[in-house]
Amino acid sequence: MIACKQVAKALAENRYYELPWFRRIPMFIHIRLCVMCGKYHQQVVDFQKGIRGYLEHEEAGDVGTKIHLSDEAKKRIAEAMKNKS
Ligand SMILES: [Zn+2]
Repeated sequence: MIACKQVAKALAENRYYELPWFRRIPMFIHIRLCVMCGKYHQQVVDFQKGIRGYLEHEEAGDVGTKIHLSDEAKKRIAEAMKNKS
């Protein structure tokens, strides 16, 4: 089990999806199991997931045609941005 501090550090310094799987998997498990991290980091992970999805579509040239965020996801991204600034 990795520590909360390691999760926070990894998320602050890297985009989680750019980490190798052997660092990503334990991090996900930790975020799922840890109440503290679950509350805070799940937001960050979802937010980064949204960005990755957007970048992939942008590269493919089809932004706006295929991306559909649920209202809940939009709200979470807005909140994550608010918390960051
Ligand atoms: Zn934790």
